[in-house]
Amino acid sequence: MVRVMDSTAPKLKTKSVGIIGAGISGLSCAKTLTQAGFIVELFDKGRNVSGRMATRRNDDSEFDHGAQYFTATDPEFKKEVAKWVNTGVAQLWTPDISVFGDKQSTKTTDHVERFVGIPNMTTPAKFISMGLSINLNTTIESICIRPQSYPRWSLKSKENGTLKSSFNTVISTIPAPQATKIFKDFSPVLTGITQDVKMSGTWAVMLNFNEKVDLKFDAAFVNKGPLRWIAKNNSKPERGSNETWVLHATSEWSELHLDSPAEDVADLLIKEFLGLGGSLPDQHQTHLWRYAEATPPLDMTFAWDKENNLGICADWLHKGSVEGAWLSGRKLAENIIQSLSERDPLKNFYSPYR
Ligand SMILES: Cc1cc2nc3c(=O)[nH]c(=O)nc-3n(C[C@H](O)[C@H](O)[C@H](O)COP(=O)(O)OP(=O)(O)OC[C@H]3O[C@@H](n4cnc5c(N)ncnc54)[C@H](O)[C@@H]3O)c2cc1C
Repeated sequence: MVRVMDSTAPKLKTKSVGIIGAGISGLSCAKTLTQAGFIVELFDKGRNVSGRMATRRNDDSEFDHGAQYFTATDPEFKKEVAKWVNTGVAQLWTPDISVFGDKQSTKTTDHVERFVGIPNMTTPAKFISMGLSINLNTTIESICIRPQSYPRWSLKSKENGTLKSSFNTVISTIPAPQATKIFKDFSPVLTGITQDVKMSGTWAVMLNFNEKVDLKFDAAFVNKGPLRWIAKNNSKPERGSNETWVLHATSEWSELHLDSPAEDVADLLIKEFLGLGGSLPDQHQTHLWRYAEATPPLDMTFAWDKENNLGICADWLHKGSVEGAWLSGRKLAENIIQSLSERDPLKNFYSPYR
């Protein structure tokens, strides 16, 4: 006897997921869900995927002005990074790193394996994004419940108002203060987490030189004053030969200068670079990462409101790093796959056509 499926049962629709943000966490979540048969759509306010794994171009130079490199300690992430390396979108970077403490500079011998995207930091995210459905230039301002409808969630964007697609599940990967606004009318579970997360800014300055800078290292951790990290961008593989440096300020200094004019910030940070032995650049640009990092990141991996099918994955829930963000997305996806299959009304219903 052939048993016929209940045609009103929302099999496919239970698997529709909207993801706000196409950084590494949103992409890793989307990829895992898609591979499990979910129908996933991503929305990002940017012109491209990859979020804070970012690259800025000027004339014929490029700068990794967000994430500088990534490390891999988790076995699953190590496998993913090996895939990136084999595909040619990532490589090891083995810089000479100095450490500036209160007194003097020393070389670090931390034996950490540092990877970078090839030829810039956006390529691992672009690699994951292949085959996914992504809406760029789409800033999600709110989510709404569709009365008497299924799937129940829709999204509203700044650019196009209420969007056509609707979803059974919505996931946010955006900074905690913005996630609070999106979930505040619907999920006390999630806003109970997001509202206490403090996220700090980071000022970045990108420097171009016509001549080589006379510093005896490729990068330095700076444990004094306003700077915390400086790196010769073109010491990374496949960055070309133009002499380029990136400076990052500490989160404390950046927070105190959030409203300072970019030119004042650049002047102050370049002066610090000179103090470390650097030279005056021929050109420079600045960028403020308004929500660069959670101080400190939570230790939750992801957050899931199972009553409402709403979730969050992001680096600020796990380690505050590229690896943490990728794992956060992956683990949330696995949780959703399991949680929805437990509730699937057709789970124990036999049909040869399923
Ligand atoms: C200056 C700096 C240096 C760093 N250095 C390192 C490092 O060396 N090593 C390391 O491992 N990590 C580093 N990080 C951290 C690393 O970049 C992040 O952990 C990781 O990229 C975060 O990924 P994510 O997907 O969680 O968030 P994001 O990459 O921020 O992705 C979120 C996405 O959401 C989008 N978005 C935001 N609001 C909306 C909205 N309303 N609607 C639609 N889309 C929206 C954004 O455009 C973005 O693409 C650094 C970060 C910064 C800022």
